Amino acid sequence: MIFLVTGGAGFIGSHLVERLLAEGNRVIGLDNFDNFYDPALKRRNLTRALQNPKFRLVEGDLRDEGILEKVFREEKIEIVAHLAARAGVRPSIQNPLLYADVNIRGTLNLLEACKKHGVRRLVFASSSSVYGNNPKIPFAEDDPVDNPISPYAATKKAGELICYTYHHLYGIDVACLRYFTVYGPRQRPEMAIHQFTRLIHQGKKVALFGDGSSRRDYTYIDDAIAGTMGALTKEHGYEIYNIGESQTISLSELIQAIEQRVGKRALVEYLPPQPGDVERTFADIRKASERLGYRPQTKIQEGLDHFVRWYLDESCK
Ligand code: NAD
Repeated sequence: MIFLVTGGAGFIGSHLVERLLAEGNRVIGLDNFDNFYDPALKRRNLTRALQNPKFRLVEGDLRDEGILEKVFREEKIEIVAHLAARAGVRPSIQNPLLYADVNIRGTLNLLEACKKHGVRRLVFASSSSVYGNNPKIPFAEDDPVDNPISPYAATKKAGELICYTYHHLYGIDVACLRYFTVYGPRQRPEMAIHQFTRLIHQGKKVALFGDGSSRRDYTYIDDAIAGTMGALTKEHGYEIYNIGESQTISLSELIQAIEQRVGKRALVEYLPPQPGDVERTFADIRKASERLGYRPQTKIQEGLDHFVRWYLDESCK
């Protein structure tokens, strides 16, 4: 089977590439190595994949029709995992036009190429942020998602909608995965677990927005990949699935757990809550469990053990 993974050099993308290669597939990774965080880290993410002759890296931008045309002409791509995006809630408030351009126009560009070249299935990386401040917990796929509270969330919802249109018009099989804060080795450096670990380890101040009581459902990378593999290998028509752990931890508890593992106290600076941040995320994963066979295995305490060990190893290099 031939897969295209957009954003293949990123955190989730590089793990997915490795998993698809391990199962004997040919994998094309498309990535523009943008400067949202250090592109050298993304190159490092691909070290293992690049040793596999079944992997091809295409350095290019999703918004470039020419590059997509070239890739789809040269490779008989059957299934696409569309992970490339500008991620992050807070920076999307500073730069909404860029987020719309990459996440909406880029997705549309890709869907056009999928239509033209007869792609069978597309799995789209959506986000739990589409739920906004949903009062009902846990969040289920059929809850209303008409009130995104950041441009990033709005672009992810827009992506789900445009994927539906291409499913309806051209019969592309689509699964949208609403990932709930994914963490683990290679996590993006600006995300909370990575950032807190780094700052605590370096003895620097940790900015905590709000009073520490906000809660998140954190998904370990191996579980996110297992859910994604389930989606890539099944028929959907058009479906949306939550990919979370269905367990939450507060920000204060998270910091304590990281302190214990790093062996240092955090120098916490309390700041007002940030606009765009949601109070709580909590995934109802029954649908993914029934349809994708999704069974998250790694609880936060164990996942943090793996993450902090990885971070400390990397910081010695
Ligand atoms: P990431 O930033 O590590 O990966 C995204 C990759 O896409 C990067 O390597 C980047 O260089 C690439 N990219 C960006 N713009 C591109 C463009 N125009 N053309 C080609 N490549 C481009 O982020 P991640 O955490 O691995 O997230 C992967 C996907 O999952 C994203 O769509 C993100 O919105 C979504 N998601 C992630 C999380 C999470 O917790 N990590 C949660 C919800 C949704």
